[in-house]
Amino acid sequence: MHDFIEEVLLTNEEIVAIAERIGKQISHDYAGKKPLLIGLLKGSVPFLAELMKHIDIEMEVDFMKVSSYSGVHSTGAVTITKDTSTPLVDRDVIIVEDIVDSGLTIQEIKNLLKDRKAKSIRVATLLDKPSGRTVPNLYPDYVGQEIPGKFVVGFGLDYDELYRNLPYVGVLKRSVYEK
Ligand code: 5GP
Repeated sequence: MHDFIEEVLLTNEEIVAIAERIGKQISHDYAGKKPLLIGLLKGSVPFLAELMKHIDIEMEVDFMKVSSYSGVHSTGAVTITKDTSTPLVDRDVIIVEDIVDSGLTIQEIKNLLKDRKAKSIRVATLLDKPSGRTVPNLYPDYVGQEIPGKFVVGFGLDYDELYRNLPYVGVLKRSVYEK
């Protein structure tokens, strides 16, 4: 564990086991279909990469980039800064996230994908912070782990672009961002 981390919430082994569980579930739920996984940049990349290894049906992958956070608090505004290149009409889409907090990002993206006539839309997230939810009745379909309302980093999750490369998920010490 690094000295800027207060507590490890998920070890790398636990994350791999989560990806295996969700990958198997997706393979089962989408048998005979060809889902399009849309990873939300940048945070979902490590989880998406791990998850894909455990999906054993035909699938495709694309990416979108939205910005909603700066620092440790949500700004509430969601802007799309990189769009998918795959046509979404009639596709079974699975949005892949690192963490769902307020739910605003997922709500916005779901609305956009509906407008683009995706056939079905589900959400797979490594982490879920239900205590932060401001969007009512928003439940991700595949959840790796529910976590308390603390600011976490690692396995794709950053603090001002740092710590995405940690192989585990941990709570960042407050002293790092309350200087
Ligand atoms: P939401 O729109 O659901 O509030 O926020 C989703 C996004 O906020 C995530 O993709 C992530 O970028 C960021 N986020 C929410 N909670 C955390 C957290 O605890 N740590 C980090 N690093 N990012 C977070």
